[in-house]
Amino acid sequence: MSQPITAVYPGSFDPATNGHLDIIERAAGTFDRLLVAVGRNSSKNVLFTPEERIATLRECVTSLPNVEVTSFDGLLVNFVREQGSHVIVRGLRAVSDFEFEFQIALANRQMAPDIETYFLMTSAEYLYLSSSIVKEIARLGGDISALAPEPVQRALKTRFLREGALSS
Ligand code: ADP
Repeated sequence: MSQPITAVYPGSFDPATNGHLDIIERAAGTFDRLLVAVGRNSSKNVLFTPEERIATLRECVTSLPNVEVTSFDGLLVNFVREQGSHVIVRGLRAVSDFEFEFQIALANRQMAPDIETYFLMTSAEYLYLSSSIVKEIARLGGDISALAPEPVQRALKTRFLREGALSS
């Protein structure tokens, strides 16, 4: 019998969108176990702490029994190996993602030739969906119900109400 395959889906998830969730669901249907890994050392200017992002993501994946959410810092390839995995999953939207993802995948392959990066093409309806767009619409009081899962909608509302960006 072949060994069960654990895949790692790393990202900022600041916050998770329906595009991320679509990749999670599809990867969970392909691999035996999926670890969604929130990066702690992102150079991006983030809204939510890693703990907040993990907690919200966990609420989003409760119906997917083979998905776990955790965080990592340091080199992704080291983390992937520590998890007994050799599979990285990334999502691809437009051509604009390609250049960046290609660079990272090649750098990772140079460091760890035994680890393979699998790209899942976005579903058409999420082509233009990003965490930044979701945050911006939510901050301005727009409707994000078609763009982000319910726990994320709640987390954004709470955050922007607290910051006074929205009126209750
Ligand atoms: P990172 O900072 O590592 O790029 P993100 O949270 O922005 O983290 O993205 C994580 C992964 O999810 C990336 O591979 C990104 O291309 C992918 N992704 C983000 N939004 C979508 C989407 N709407 N459809 C498909 N993949 C997506």
